[in-house]
Parts: sequence; structure tokens; C-alpha cells
Amino acid sequence: MSQSSDITHDVLVVGAGLAGTWAAMIASQAGVTDVAILSKLHPLRSHSGAAQGGIAAALNNVRPINPNEKRGDLEPIPPGDDPIDSWELHMKDTIKGSAWLGDQNAIKIMVQDAIDIVYTYEHMGCVFSRTPDGRINQRRFGGHSVPRANFAADWTGHVLLHTVYEQACKQGVKFYSEWYALDLIVEDNVCKGLVAIDITTGELHLMRAKAVMFGTGGYGRAWRITSNATANTGDGVALAYNAGVPLMDMEFVQFHPTGLYRHGILMSEACRGEGGYLVNNSGDRFMEDYAPDRMELAPRDIVSRSEQTEIDEGRGVEADGQGIHLDMRHLGHERILERLPQVREIALKFAGVDIIDHPAPIQPTAHYSMGGIPADVNGQVIRDADGTPVTGFYAAGECACISVHGANRLGTNSLLGASVFGRRAGYAIAEFIQGGAQLQPIQGNPLERNRQRIARFKSDPANGKTESWAAVARELKDTMTTNVGIFRNETRLRKALDDIKRLQEHFGQVRVMDKSARFNTDILGALETKHLLTFSEVIAASALARTESRGAHSRTDHDAPDNGNWLKHTLAHPNDDDGPTLSYKAVDIDWDNHPPEVRKY
Ligand SMILES: Cc1cc2nc3c(=O)[nH]c(=O)nc-3n(C[C@H](O)[C@H](O)[C@H](O)COP(=O)(O)OP(=O)(O)OC[C@H]3O[C@@H](n4cnc5c(N)ncnc54)[C@H](O)[C@@H]3O)c2cc1C
Repeated sequence: MSQSSDITHDVLVVGAGLAGTWAAMIASQAGVTDVAILSKLHPLRSHSGAAQGGIAAALNNVRPINPNEKRGDLEPIPPGDDPIDSWELHMKDTIKGSAWLGDQNAIKIMVQDAIDIVYTYEHMGCVFSRTPDGRINQRRFGGHSVPRANFAADWTGHVLLHTVYEQACKQGVKFYSEWYALDLIVEDNVCKGLVAIDITTGELHLMRAKAVMFGTGGYGRAWRITSNATANTGDGVALAYNAGVPLMDMEFVQFHPTGLYRHGILMSEACRGEGGYLVNNSGDRFMEDYAPDRMELAPRDIVSRSEQTEIDEGRGVEADGQGIHLDMRHLGHERILERLPQVREIALKFAGVDIIDHPAPIQPTAHYSMGGIPADVNGQVIRDADGTPVTGFYAAGECACISVHGANRLGTNSLLGASVFGRRAGYAIAEFIQGGAQLQPIQGNPLERNRQRIARFKSDPANGKTESWAAVARELKDTMTTNVGIFRNETRLRKALDDIKRLQEHFGQVRVMDKSARFNTDILGALETKHLLTFSEVIAASALARTESRGAHSRTDHDAPDNGNWLKHTLAHPNDDDGPTLSYKAVDIDWDNHPPEVRKY
């Protein structure tokens, strides 16, 4: 990799999904003139664009025709009729969904801002699906007690992302498209910039900024079956951790109940929101046994565990018994084509099944990371339980843990969280810059350090023995799937940690075959695999320490929540010697109004 002179900006955002693009657009609108976004993909290929089902907000546009029905048809609420929803109810559902691990101060902000952010999207030109009388349409979603998922057919993320991208371009935000951040520079608790590769040329650049913001998304790619795009390798969380920033609540990883069987590609929760059934090999709607009140629309942790139990007890479908059927035939041709066109196409193309005529085979799929880089409600990254800020470093969206989702996220709250906290981070960054923030001199030589790192991948190893990063990644995914999946226990988690340690050693021998500069995806694959190894160790170590079951973290050897000991956030601090050092942070709870309860649906 050749070297070139430093690039400087007032604000450097990594990630062009909803969180990053909102932050950049707002900082720019608030008067910061020099704002840039770096994205390893073309901005519009960010995973936000893959979101299907909806974005939550208590708009009160529709209600069930039969108020006693948890399923069934909806109708517009006539103007003047009593509302059925409120931000208070949205807050209550989110807290319960989070298994009381979500910070209630942050949840309150998110659900209050939800209404404004959805109308802001609408006013920016976002094409939502409509009710017959022209208002934004809403559908049901898991864990939400009333219909409040605002949607655009099953292309919701796509239309939201295109809308903010257009506005950011109009605002004059500079995009570095297909640039890859590989090192974050934090010295003396001040974030000073990063090192990035221009993927198209292979050139390495030192990029300095007064403020750096991460909106780098999730990390489902550490599992074999995942709904996540190939780019979702958790680079941002690994970069932050390598720079000395702790990671919070990493043990909480969401498995979505309906990934396409064997592929993991998402069949949106909108399938169940619209009325789809889950059935086992006897044709039984087994959710009756697990969540009789909410059935298929219980929160994801509960539905995924129920499916896995059916599979483990021999009631799965397909030749290996590892699938479940998602049956939507009763919704009818017209409704499926109007509301779920993308889902139908995915099932047709990848499983050869037309959901209009046949049930689709599905299985749980690694989907969403509740944990991440700890940040406050303004996206300011913090480094300890006291909330000490890392100066100049911000994060929002799926890579951050603010923490609104706690131990389990409700569907449609993620597009919401990324938008609301991306926007808030944008305002906070503008204030920081306008308050006199300066570019900081860098003491070390990060460019040279990374140049050597890349050169090593291309070199011949001293002992002549090489490893392929793809083989290391495959083994990692196997152990994460088997040992850090839906059900966990001490034996499995220790096995995962041993495997990860061994794979980290193997990684020292990784060499690439492609020695060229331009579009060297071999080098990127190696860097991404190292990131997977880094945060997977944190996930397994945090999960091993948490001897309870809460939300998505389900341990067969400690099968109940333990509020006395574990109603607290995990902070995993990097430690050169041997894995992370864990400390804990209090959860923000309004004890008068939302004390922990037994979580039943
Ligand atoms: C298939 C699917 C469907 C979903 N459906 C819904 C839904 O209906 N409703 C809902 O609320 N949520 C949904 N989610 C979750 C939601 O889409 C995501 O959590 C959210 O969009 C994340 O947004 P983000 O801005 O944090 O990151 P992303 O949109 O994932 O963007 C990450 C950005 O970071 C960049 N990046 C990452 N690493 C680097 C690096 N090293 N260098 C440079 N750039 C980098 C990428 O290029 C990208 O631009 C869904 C998720 C999936 C996978």
C-alpha cells in the first residue's frame, strides 16, 4: 500500500446507513461545513436498506376492527375517535421487550421522538404505504401491543435510506464510497481520527477529524446462519475495542425467528404482522404452548426459543428436521402481493417456494446486536460506568449500545433508534465543533503501523505455513452457532472461548493470495475476520459471566432472570493479557412507574 498525505475534516462519520447519514446530514444542517462520510460499501448498499418490516411510532392511524382481537384486520381510526396508542404505551412495550435491561431515560427519548422522526421522513419525501384515507399505514409487530409499525410495503429500510441519502447529498456532505476504516486513533482518551484504505486504489490514508462518529452497523456475520449482509462484520465495534473503548452488553444477540431455511435470509416479521402462522411437522400452531396470548407476535427471543425447542424435540420440518413452516396461504394472493412482495420474491428465488400456495421453510437466524459501543443519549461514547466521555468520539445505530433495546429488541425499534440517535448525535457533534473543537496532533505513527499490518498479510510466513482467513472464519462461525447460539450453557461457552483463542493463534499465520492493490477483497476479508474474532471473544466471555437468562441471553444452566445479581449492563474492557476484563454499569430504571416484572406474553 502506498502512502499519501493526511486528509482532514471537521467531522468524519464512518457508516452510511441510517445512523451515520442522519448524523452527517444534521451536523451539516446545523452549520458545520466540512462533514464527510466514509463507507466500505456504496452508501445505498448499507444494511439499513435491507430492512423490510417497518419503523415504530405511535401515530394512531389504524386500529383493529375487532378490539378484542390480537390478529385480524385493521381499519383507519376516524378523525376525532379515541386514540389507541401513545408514546407511554410504546415505552411500556419496549421496556418489557428489553427484559428490563433497557435504559428507561433513553427509551423515553426514543419513543417520544419517534412520532416526529416518522413525519420528518414523510416531509422529506419518503413513500410510506397509505391507509385508504391517505395517512401513513401501520401494521402489527411482535411485542408491540397495538399496530404501530409504519411501513412502505416490505421495502421500509430501502425508502428511508434513499430519502436521507438524497438529503445528505443536497446538504453537501462529502461521501468516501468504498473506503474501509481499519484503525481508530484514540490517544489520552481523545479520538483524533482513523486510518482507512481507499478500496478502489488500495491506498492507505490517515484521516484526521475534530469529531469521529461510528454508524458501522451490526455483526451477524459471526454466525453461520444470519440475516445480515456480508458487510456486517462488526468492524466498528472491533476498532473501538482495539482503541481501548469498552463494549457493552455484547452477550445479547438477537436470533430472528424467520430466516429462510438454510440461508438465513430474512423473511420479515411483517409476515407474522400481516397474520402468518408458524407450524411444526404435525401442522400445529405451536406458539399456543409458549405464548398463548400473543402467539406468533410474541417478542423475537421467545418465538425463536419456541421454534428451537420444537426442532430440538423432533417436531421440525424438512429432511433434517431443522426447519419450521411459515404459513401465509390464508392471507391470499392480493394481500401478499401488496404487502409482502419482496418476501415472496426471496422465497421464490432462494427456496423455490411460492408463499401464495405453499408454506415457506424457515429457521431462526442471527439478526441483531443489542450490545455495542457504549454511548449516552446524545451518541457521546463513554468509557466507564460513570459515563466518562471519550472526547470527540460518537456512535449511534446498531454498533452502539445506548441502551434502548436492553436484552431483546422489539422489531421496528431499530430503524427508529438508528434515526433518532443518529439525529441527536448530529446535533451534539455540531455543538462540539462549534464550541471550539480542534484537530489534535497524533503522537504515534498509525499509518506505518497499518502499512506493516497489510504487508504482513502479503508476506511469506517464516515457517512457510499459512492459514486462510476463510477457513478461520468458517470455524469461528461453526463454534459461535453451536456454542453461542439461542441456548447457551457453561460447557458450551467455555468451548467457544477455547476455540476462539485457538483461532486467534491461527490467525497469526493468515496470508492472502491476492497481492495486488486495487479492490483487494482478500485483504479486506482478512481484516474483517480479525474483527469477527475480536468481538466474538467479548460476546462469549460476557455470556459466560452472566449466570442468568434474560431476553436473548438464554442459559440452560441458569434458566431464569436474576434481578438481584444481574439487573446491570456488562462493560467488557480490552485487556492485553487474557481476554476482556468485565465491569458492570447500573440500568436506568424508573422504579415508581416501570419496575421489573415477570415477563409473560
Ligand atoms: C434483513 C434485515 C431486515 C431488517 N428489518 C428491520 C425492520 O423492518 N425494522 C427495523 O427497525 N429494523 C430492521 N432491521 C435492523 C436495522 O435494519 C438495522 O439495525 C439498522 O438499519 C442499522 O443501521 P445502521 O445505520 O446502524 O447501520 P447499517 O445500515 O448497517 O450501515 C453500516 C454502515 O457502516 C459502514 N461500515 C461498516 N464498517 C465499515 C468500515 N470498516 N469502514 C467503512 N465503512 C464501514 C457500511 O458501509 C455501512 O454504510 C433489519 C435488519 C436486517 C439485517
